[in-house]
Amino acid sequence: MTIDLEALYIDLHQHPELSFQETRTAGIAAGHLRDLGLEVHEGVGVTGVVGVLQNGDGPVVWVRADMDALPVGELTDLPYASTATGIDPAGNTVPVMHACGHDMHVTAMIGAVEKLVAERGEWAGTLVVLIQPAEEYGAGSRAMLDDGLRDLVPHPDIVLGQHVTPLPAGTIGVRPGTQMAASDGLTVTLHGRGGHGSRPHSTIDPVVMAAATVMRLQTIASREVDPRDVAVVTVGSIHAGLKNNIIPAEAKLELSLRYPNDEMRDRVLASVERIVRAEAAASGAEREPEIRTDHTLPPTINDADATARVTSALQRVLGESSVVDPGMFTGSEDVSWFARDTGVPLVFWFWGGVDPAAFAAAMAAGTLDKDVPTNHSPYFAPEIHPTIEVGVTALSAAAREFLG
Ligand SMILES: [Zn+2]
Ligand SMILES: [Zn+2]
Repeated sequence: MTIDLEALYIDLHQHPELSFQETRTAGIAAGHLRDLGLEVHEGVGVTGVVGVLQNGDGPVVWVRADMDALPVGELTDLPYASTATGIDPAGNTVPVMHACGHDMHVTAMIGAVEKLVAERGEWAGTLVVLIQPAEEYGAGSRAMLDDGLRDLVPHPDIVLGQHVTPLPAGTIGVRPGTQMAASDGLTVTLHGRGGHGSRPHSTIDPVVMAAATVMRLQTIASREVDPRDVAVVTVGSIHAGLKNNIIPAEAKLELSLRYPNDEMRDRVLASVERIVRAEAAASGAEREPEIRTDHTLPPTINDADATARVTSALQRVLGESSVVDPGMFTGSEDVSWFARDTGVPLVFWFWGGVDPAAFAAAMAAGTLDKDVPTNHSPYFAPEIHPTIEVGVTALSAAAREFLG
């Protein structure tokens, strides 16, 4: 039996599902894992799937793929472009697209498991396959762990995972230490005093308060953080008011914060709080603003020794020059909860999905940022080949490195 991975990828791409709604995707993944002879658990952390392949005594390796899609309308002209819609948590009908490549992650995972099953005479140990929901909410790995994952499967010796990214296809990006930033999502509610648009002096205008706050928050990264360090403060959402002649009573800001380590996190969070409270005070707000943490993602930190082993394993199968240090990414991941909760090393790497010729041309022209769509772009479109094959090879080779 050979699984048609291209067909699987196209099918998943055409049927993307929003976070914690990945029932179809989970069913397909579970079906393949069952067909491959794994013991399968479904509904772990709402829609998560767990597969266990016991193959004699030896190390326990957890391999993880995430499976959720995003509320993005696909704008690629691919023949298999998504036209799907979904219902978001607010009840809105939204377009849905695999704009982060998690369809590729599931496909490569199924291919890697198939390969490891075929090679089972050559290794010993236990492979635990985690098909995780809701990575885009930063909530799926916690949901699986909180739903009793650790009681369901053997304790790991290592956690491995991979993410498709705008590197040339065939290239792997991995580094020891911080691979991806830590992140917090905050909702800030600023309280003013509403009133008639013609009588601003009788109100406390939260729109102006919000505008001043947004501008001042920009000074954290530009004025407070050492230029040799990294921190990101993004205000991705701002909402206030319903009509031009009404001064509203409140404004809401949604912030996305990124940092490489826990020290920078403490510092940026303190700065955000200081600025939000001070701008409210400057506006004469009668009520303190509220700052709510919606999610917290730890930094994705690759264990140095395990990363060295994975790097040489990948160099062996893909060629010495295929593995590069991509630097730290300011994106964030929730994969590391699997390693943090179990106290074991993590190795998480990126694999390229861009046509190498197109990547080289954009690089030469200095237009990488413009011409190579990144994850979450409506134009994100990994090359099917050799991206699937490289993902299968990388994941299976890394797993084999630890499986006896
Ligand atoms: Zn994403
Ligand atoms: Zn992703």
